[in-house]
Amino acid sequence: MSRKVRADIHLDAIVHNYRLAKAQAPTTMAAAIVKANAYGHGAVPVARALANDADAFGVACIEEAMELREAGLRQPIILLEGFFDADELPLIAEHGFWPVLHSEHQVRWLEQFSSPARFPVWLKLDTGMHRLGVAPDQVESLVARLRQCEVVSEVLLMTHFARSDEPSLPMTRDQLGCFDRVAAQLGLGASLSNSAAVMAWPEAHRQWLRPGIMLYGATPFGESNPVADQLRAGMTLSSEIIAVREVPAGETVGYGATFSCDRTRRIGTVAMGYGDGYPRHARNGTPVLVEGVRTSLAGRVSMDMLTVDLTDIPQADIGSRVELWGQRLPVSEVAQWCDTIPYTLLTCLTPRVPRVYSD
Ligand SMILES: *Cc1c(COP(=O)(O)O)cnc(C)c1O
Repeated sequence: MSRKVRADIHLDAIVHNYRLAKAQAPTTMAAAIVKANAYGHGAVPVARALANDADAFGVACIEEAMELREAGLRQPIILLEGFFDADELPLIAEHGFWPVLHSEHQVRWLEQFSSPARFPVWLKLDTGMHRLGVAPDQVESLVARLRQCEVVSEVLLMTHFARSDEPSLPMTRDQLGCFDRVAAQLGLGASLSNSAAVMAWPEAHRQWLRPGIMLYGATPFGESNPVADQLRAGMTLSSEIIAVREVPAGETVGYGATFSCDRTRRIGTVAMGYGDGYPRHARNGTPVLVEGVRTSLAGRVSMDMLTVDLTDIPQADIGSRVELWGQRLPVSEVAQWCDTIPYTLLTCLTPRVPRVYSD
């Protein structure tokens, strides 16, 4: 291959992380969330690696679900936003997908649909995030209607947390309280926990976990967490140095001249840029590893290249390996330097970056 950009995907680490999620609640089921191409890691290879472990998969839409079915995966697949149009219902019934119902109109469409096949549905309750979900006072009547639907085999109640990654704040407890008040009389299975709640909110585990980001080895927390500390990176993003130069004191590097050399600095140019998904808003000082040694960005990221400071790494030269994030440099640490979260860095990796799988 000419250009040496690559994302190594560590399938064994992803399996380890799924098992770590399950170990937090051994009697609970867990849907491995593989939406958005498994957060950039490749939905089909990730799902295949998890096929012997995962109780179910979770995706954002029917196209993502079909991709897994067509690859031969047999698990239940949860459609996290349900169906966007009633014409998806025949495929849902045929393939046994489990739609989330977040709004009354979806229940109405289900009532008007008939099929010999039956499937479970997850009714989503809005407990305070105010993005998707039915209001608490609608739940009882909607559950009653769903129990009358010929295609519904089972109803499960779910909700989603807005701030479970900030365990010291009261909002998650408030959302839990709201959920429990509504669920109390209904006797339904429940699913509340994203990765942060899997790791920090055991009282939210219930019947089904929904771990996403933790499968890929990235922590959702801004601080250390004893479970998150055991995660293993699912991806190592790397490339090579393609040019090296000495830049004299007072000169600048890159577009916008944002990096000035305080003294003569040895600058390496790396084949990696925002055209690969490495964020342009990564600041000067964002950590990178060159030959395994930590150094930092020097100058603005361009489309196909970025520049790093090699002054203190004399052994670095053309062809030296550069790690942008991975097993030795957490993607969540890089994300903080980019004023973003690891989710965006992983999902925004472009198709130009070859994914190389190992297990
Ligand atoms: C994406 C998603 C998850 C997974 O969230 P993470 O923070 O990545 O663990 C869980 N539940 C729903 C409804 C989601 O959309």
